[in-house]
Amino acid sequence: MTAFRAPIGTKDVLPPDSARWAMLAARFYEQFHAAGYGLVITPIFEELGVFLRIGEATDVVTKEMYDFDDKGGRRIALRPESTASVVRAFVEHRPTTPWKAIYLGPQFRYEAPQAGRFRQFHQVGAEVLGTLDPDADVEVMALLDRFYRSLGLQRYRLLVNSLGDRADRARYVDVVRAYFQSHAAELSEQSRVTLARNPLRVLDSKRREDLPIVMAAPRSVDYLSDEAGAHFERVQSGLRALDVPFELAPRLVRGLDYYTRTTFEFASDALGSAQNALGGGGRYDGLSEEMGGPAAPAIGFAAGVERILLACDAEGVFPAPAAAVDVFVVDTTGGAEAMALTFELRSAGVSADRAFDGRSMKSQMKAADRSGAAVVLIVGSQERDAGTVTLRPLRNGFDQQSQFEVSRADVVQHVRKYL
Ligand code: AMP
Repeated sequence: MTAFRAPIGTKDVLPPDSARWAMLAARFYEQFHAAGYGLVITPIFEELGVFLRIGEATDVVTKEMYDFDDKGGRRIALRPESTASVVRAFVEHRPTTPWKAIYLGPQFRYEAPQAGRFRQFHQVGAEVLGTLDPDADVEVMALLDRFYRSLGLQRYRLLVNSLGDRADRARYVDVVRAYFQSHAAELSEQSRVTLARNPLRVLDSKRREDLPIVMAAPRSVDYLSDEAGAHFERVQSGLRALDVPFELAPRLVRGLDYYTRTTFEFASDALGSAQNALGGGGRYDGLSEEMGGPAAPAIGFAAGVERILLACDAEGVFPAPAAAVDVFVVDTTGGAEAMALTFELRSAGVSADRAFDGRSMKSQMKAADRSGAAVVLIVGSQERDAGTVTLRPLRNGFDQQSQFEVSRADVVQHVRKYL
């Protein structure tokens, strides 16, 4: 029988690597929680319509959506991103603003899988809904920057741009369309197709033949209203005040249609250029209203967990922690002693493991060694009858050959001396 494999574009995350995932998630949660953000958990599937607001001309919606009819005949989609879901939840529950939300979890896009690009991938993200204050833009960028730094990452750049308000953006789209149309003959065939559907996306093209034309394209910052221009100035001075390095990226438009004003992306210099985005986001001042909610200008970002970990590998930082327990209990009396002892240790805050299946002493000692434990406690029938335990330190510079009997009643106290 052929064995099943994980579907194309997905992967299993197993120990020890999964420990990094847990640590990354915990660190993200702690840092944003400490800045007033609360965890929001939304379903991984929604009515398809929720995601159509991302932009009906974007690849994410037209080509990459995992959508299907459920058994009740509803049109459902697995979420390709979480901002739309968070805004749907905001509109449904109307929390007081500013609403500072964080999320983490899987996202689904039917893309061509390659290094750093998966069909199920994972994001951590944050959103601030209900404020137009440029300080909110600065806050989310500065917190994300600190998060990356806390993992040890250094080789990345924050790229920032502004698309202006809806009217500025519409004007800019017209200018960009006219510009690319006048250079259509020089563009790649793919970009000509993109141009007909979504002119701004041509700015994202990384094809060599497109580059000279893209590099000379009009810049959105030249089409900002006074208000949007002032907002963008405040964002930049805020980043400078917090010493968050950034670069202006006049053609950074990002993939999703809902962005207005600020857009940003963190690009890793340690990863290949095609998949170098560690995370990105921007303002989406109109999305709440488009979803039938109150006016609620907002800013947020999403960062790819797999991508961040790839960048950590490339920079040699944030290694998987060694999976080690403090104590391994070897029990040659049948297992009852190991059970009692491990739970006693765990209750006292000492991590402990044991072997199962009544293995031989030798096999249990091997398991103890593999466990990375600092101390082995051995209970045979002689110790059990004497009310003692044999203690053998394995690590931390203690003589590994030495072992001695300690009283069963004081075992936790004795163990602590060797941790
Ligand atoms: P986006 O929602 O497209 O703005 O993506 C935000 C971040 O998610 C990107 O910067 C990447 O880090 C990550 N990401 C997006 N798509 C994928 C994918 N297919 N596989 C892995 N990571 C992804």
